[in-house]
Amino acid sequence: MSLSTPQSQLDEDRDRIVDSNDDEVLFCDEDEETAPQTTDILQTETAGATETEVWKVIIVDDEPSVHRATQLALKNFRFEDKPLSFYSAYSAEEAKQLISIDHPDTTFILLDVVMETNDAGLRVVRYIREELKNQHVRIILRTGHPGEAPEESVIVNYDINDYKLKVELTRQRMVTTAIAALRSYRDIITIEKQKQELTQALEHLQQTQNQLEEYAYMLEMKVAERTVALEKANQELYLLANLDGLTGVANRRCFDEYWQKQWQLLAEQQQPLSLILIDIDYFKNYNDRYGHQAGDECLQIVARTISNVLKRPTDLVARYGGEEFAIALPNTPLAGAQQIVQAIASEIGKLNLEHTHSPISNHITLSLGISCTIPNPNTSWKSAIAIADKALYQAKEDGRNRYCVFGEPSMPLVP
Ligand SMILES: [Mg+2]
Repeated sequence: MSLSTPQSQLDEDRDRIVDSNDDEVLFCDEDEETAPQTTDILQTETAGATETEVWKVIIVDDEPSVHRATQLALKNFRFEDKPLSFYSAYSAEEAKQLISIDHPDTTFILLDVVMETNDAGLRVVRYIREELKNQHVRIILRTGHPGEAPEESVIVNYDINDYKLKVELTRQRMVTTAIAALRSYRDIITIEKQKQELTQALEHLQQTQNQLEEYAYMLEMKVAERTVALEKANQELYLLANLDGLTGVANRRCFDEYWQKQWQLLAEQQQPLSLILIDIDYFKNYNDRYGHQAGDECLQIVARTISNVLKRPTDLVARYGGEEFAIALPNTPLAGAQQIVQAIASEIGKLNLEHTHSPISNHITLSLGISCTIPNPNTSWKSAIAIADKALYQAKEDGRNRYCVFGEPSMPLVP
């Protein structure tokens, strides 16, 4: 019972609300022993109903008669085919216990303002909204005295659903109030649920997007890895297909391909194309004398030496046979080819590679055949090679360590 409410006024209030009118709530005194207890009513109202099949309502009031009257007023009330389930608290502390621990899913609270203190009900409001952060439960403040209005700020700031004087609580008004509160609660829960579903859907979408991005990134990485591996393999294949494994210069296949292209190109341009074929003199004797490993090293040195003499990117040296090399010199007249021959002979001479089993010298020497022609598109690219080969044969015939231009007398090399 409120300390601020005189007993006489309370009695007056109770007397005013009579049960003769079906539309009014009975607030008059009842015999405590014969009046049905809250729990009895509860059991009657919601017998057999599970928690999810009822709307939970907490009545907070220090006057037991208010509890009984409220429940009687809403006795057969149903909303969306579900009954109410009432829970009673007679003080602010009991109210806090109910809403925080026992029934946090309460739909609305009919809350007395004046109980153990003048503002006990307002403290409960603050507790629910500020401490519990429960914004769902609808709160209907009730006071028995028109002069004891709760602070306006509380109504504004704490989402109070309604504010009623107890004298207004006729049965019809109770029903209207309950319907409004339940609708509001239902809408809030629906919106909340939709918000959660939307958040979950967004999170799921974000996750999917992240997974997709991760997958795309992994795919890109894999493609990049494969591309690098493929390029490397292609390069290795190219080298395998085009380079001589021992000396590192081009192989015969590569040379022939290059020669054909240059033949066509210079036939169109009508420019000279020179070819030098080179043979290491008495190389079989070298192998016999120094062994095949030394022979391989000799081939490597000669290949490197020839490569170093060639300066233009279009000049190409290739290992053409066992100890035979070929040089393609596009856009090179005979004089230019002869200069290259002399330069190679000079560099090989400087190396002074011992060859004691050579009948013509005590070091490595070369024989060379030259062809120089302006390619004829109607003539085979092989013709120039055959001519250079004949010139080489001539140089060998004439005693080796010399070069020969086909059709001309062979010339000894000056180291
Ligand atoms: Mg009170």
